[in-house]
This record gives sequence, C-alpha cells and structure tokens, in this order.
Amino acid sequence: MKKPKLGFCDYTTSPIAIDDRMKIYKKYGIENISPQWGEEFYPAGVTRFDIYESAKRHGLNIDIAHLDKKQSNLLWRTERDGDKVVEKLIGFLQEMKDHGISVGVFHLTQSETPPSVSAVGLGRINKIIDFCEKNNLVFAIECVRPLPHFDAVLENKSPALRILFDTGHANCYYKDTFGLFQKHKTRIHYTHLSNNNGIDDEHNGLDGGTIDFEKFFALDNNIEYHLLEINPKDFQNSDLRIDLFEDFVRENWAKLTSQTEI
Ligand SMILES: [Zn+2]
Repeated sequence: MKKPKLGFCDYTTSPIAIDDRMKIYKKYGIENISPQWGEEFYPAGVTRFDIYESAKRHGLNIDIAHLDKKQSNLLWRTERDGDKVVEKLIGFLQEMKDHGISVGVFHLTQSETPPSVSAVGLGRINKIIDFCEKNNLVFAIECVRPLPHFDAVLENKSPALRILFDTGHANCYYKDTFGLFQKHKTRIHYTHLSNNNGIDDEHNGLDGGTIDFEKFFALDNNIEYHLLEINPKDFQNSDLRIDLFEDFVRENWAKLTSQTEI
C-alpha cells in the first residue's frame, strides 16, 4: 500500500482571515489544503482566487477542490436549468485545470429528497465526466446519502470518475462505514475524514465519535489522499479566536499524522 498524501479542508466561511489560516496550516506542517472552487460559501468580497493566491503565497499545494453543490438537484430535472449547471461546473473544472488542481469533488444530490434518478441527469453527469477524461481531470463523487443516484452514476466506468469516501457521511447516513468502504474500495481514491455520533454529521475530530479510525486506516485500500474535514467547535461563530483556531489545527493535524503512521 502506497502512503497516501494528507491534506486539510479549508473553511471558506471561516471567520479567521485567509492569510492567517494559511500561515497556521503552514506552521504545523500541513502541505496540502483543499478549498471550495465555485461561487458558494464565500464571505462577501472573497473569491476562490483569493484563497488560491494566499495558499500559493504560503507555499501550500492544492490538488483537490470542492465544487459547488447547492444546485446539484437541478441536474436530475428535465428543465434547461440543469444544462446551465453543467456549463458552470465544466467552467469551474477548466479553471481548476488552469490552476493545476486536478480533482473536483461533487455531491450528486442535495437534501434527503432529491428528484429521482433520470436519463437526463445521467446524461449531464456523463458529459462532465467526459470533459474530465479529455482533460486529465478527476470527477470525484462523494457518498452523501444512501440514494440510488450514487450507484447509477457509477455505472460509468471512466477512469475520470472516482469516489471520495466521506467517513462522517458513511457513519451517520449509511450506518455502515466499513461495509460501504468495502463495497466501493477499488474506486475510492480520496477521503474526507471526520467522526460523529452515528446520527448527525457533526464533523468532529478523529476521536470524536463512533468510527474506529485505527481500524479504518488499517484497511486494505487504494487511497491516494486523506483530507481532514472537521469543524472547529465555534466554526459558525464570528468570534472564533485565532488562538483557538490554531489549537484546533495543531491538535487535529497531530492526531491524523500519528494515526496514519502505520
Ligand atoms: Zn465531505
């Protein structure tokens, strides 16, 4: 098993200034970050390019970014709005390629009750996957909820289609982290790592829930990249103090690096 790269998901909505976040990541030996790449979740006046440029200034690498997700349900409906979503996503993927970012992470659905799987939806998603294949990019779909859309899209066997396994989603929505992992392990190349109580997607640190990460990291796998995707306790609080954010990054990164040293 080749040792996977490790990275940290950056919080676009964090009240901590971008440059301060990057400085802290760098200080604790984080080399790779994964930001949002699109138009959603940025505070007023901030774009994906601000985060990209700050990361580069601080010597941080970006291989994987999260694409916009709020409009993903439109892809499955017959209205033309879904075509516009495809155009937008392909535009973002092209930009990512231009910035040396090769993996776009995507949620196929939004909410518990999305529109049903449809031929028009699969056609649109296959168009995005084709674009990725022609451009040496990867479209990495996340296991979000146990919905048929995930398996339907995986019928496409393109090498440009891969899975990002979110441990938190597997634990609280599928209730079967290890079973889901085993089922798809040949196509799982990336992870979002977080823990939870098995009920809510709490985005806790690795020891903050019911997933046994020691067991998880010992599984036979094809993972190239682990990304920590956890939230500071006061994540949504605009008063989050920089020293607390720094403690949060240091402690959680230390847990990840020690646990993955198998
Ligand atoms: Zn995730």
